Order: sequence, then structure tokens, then C-alpha cells
Amino acid sequence: MRIARFSIDGTVGFGVLEGDELDIIKGHPFGGIERSGRRVPVDKVRLLPPVLPSKVVAVGRNYAEHARELGNVVPEAPITFLKPSTAVLGPDAPVPYPGFTADLHYEAELAVVIGRLCREVPRERAHEVVLGYTCANDLTARDVQQREAQWARAKGFDGSCPLGPWIETDLDPSDLAIQCTVNGEQRQLGRTSEMVRSVADLIVHITEAMTLLPQDVILTGTPAGVGPLHAGDEVSVTIEGIGTLTNKVVKS
Ligand code: MG
Repeated sequence: MRIARFSIDGTVGFGVLEGDELDIIKGHPFGGIERSGRRVPVDKVRLLPPVLPSKVVAVGRNYAEHARELGNVVPEAPITFLKPSTAVLGPDAPVPYPGFTADLHYEAELAVVIGRLCREVPRERAHEVVLGYTCANDLTARDVQQREAQWARAKGFDGSCPLGPWIETDLDPSDLAIQCTVNGEQRQLGRTSEMVRSVADLIVHITEAMTLLPQDVILTGTPAGVGPLHAGDEVSVTIEGIGTLTNKVVKS
């Protein structure tokens, strides 16, 4: 099932995507989905970020090839960092090129959408806390990341976390093609099977330390091929079985 969050005529809601229509859900999709039977054509709505997370927990260097391309090794323990709620943008929303960087990079990533409050999740129950998956772009001020020990500014600036276009709930995340294009040209192509730590491993690791809430998001790392973006570029993240998240970089 594909669940989109949308706005139309000033109201915001969730809907299940069926063909080119959204079947509107009563309330929200966390804790059970109740359809209203009211349908709206998807080209009549504006798609929003599929969730508004209290936090985005991201993982660095989770694909060995990508760690190597930046001169790093795969860390013994996963590197985790937070992107704030204010980093989140929806599909087709413009990304303002931040004024404090001269080297904005794309990073295509599989995003895990958490469906229920959870902590200290055992590995064999990790799948129970996942509502579904969407595409993410872990936008990074690479020059700032290299200058500053903590990545709060480099990876947490406004608009640094485009998410979408919707949540796919019926998906095995273990071996999906993941691609990034810039202006239609392929820049990254990998498979989620290349991840050093699986989705389940990351859920265990993160929830050892913190409670995850419904709508929270885990970014699972990016494959090799990261590179710069410029004002005017159109950047797309495509993940097999989910769809394509596209955003345009604009002058801020
Ligand atoms: Mg990343």
C-alpha cells in the first residue's frame, strides 16, 4: 500500500494511492487505516512530506564504497546523527542553496518510517515498528562537514531532508536498487543489499539509546557517487518499489 500525505484547498490529510487517485484516510495511518471512501485525483493535490517526524536519525558510512570514496573507513560502530524536524521538505519542494556552504551534495537514501512508539527493540521484532519506506535525500554541506566535528549544521540545515513521494508499506528493504540523478543524469546507483548494517540492525542500535515515535524516520546511508549540486539543478532519488523523489535547488 502507498500512503501519501497531501493538501488540497487548505486541508491536510493522508490517502492511499490507487492508480491516479487517493482514497482519503480518516485521521492518520498510525495505529490502523480507516478509509473514508472519498477519492481525489492525485494531480489535484499537493503532495507533502509523507510524515512530520519528531526527529530524523541518520546513519553515516553505511555503504563501504561510499566510505572509501571520501577517504574514510567503515566505522566499527555505526555513526549516527540527527536531522531536525525543520530539515524536512516534501516532494517537488524547492531546496534553497544554503548561504553558509559552497559545496552542497546530494545523498540518495532509503528512509524507514516508524509506525509506533518503541524503544529497546529486539532484532526479531524490528519489522513490527516499521510502517513503511520512502525516498530521502540527505543533503550535506560537504565543506562544512569537513571543517566541523559535529554535523548539526552540515546536515541539519533547513531543507536538508527531502522525503517522499509517499510511504510504501509492502516492501522488503533488503535488496532494492537505489539511484540518484541530477538533471536526468545518473550520479549514484547502488543496492540496499550493500548496506553494512541492515534496517533491523539500525533499529536495534538506535532504540538502545532513544525512543522512536510514530512518524520518526531513519536514514540508512548512501551508496557511492556523491557529488555537488548547483542552483537550478533538479535532483531525483529513485528507489525500486517506492518511486521517485524530485526537488529543485534554488538560489536562496
Ligand atoms: Mg547520508
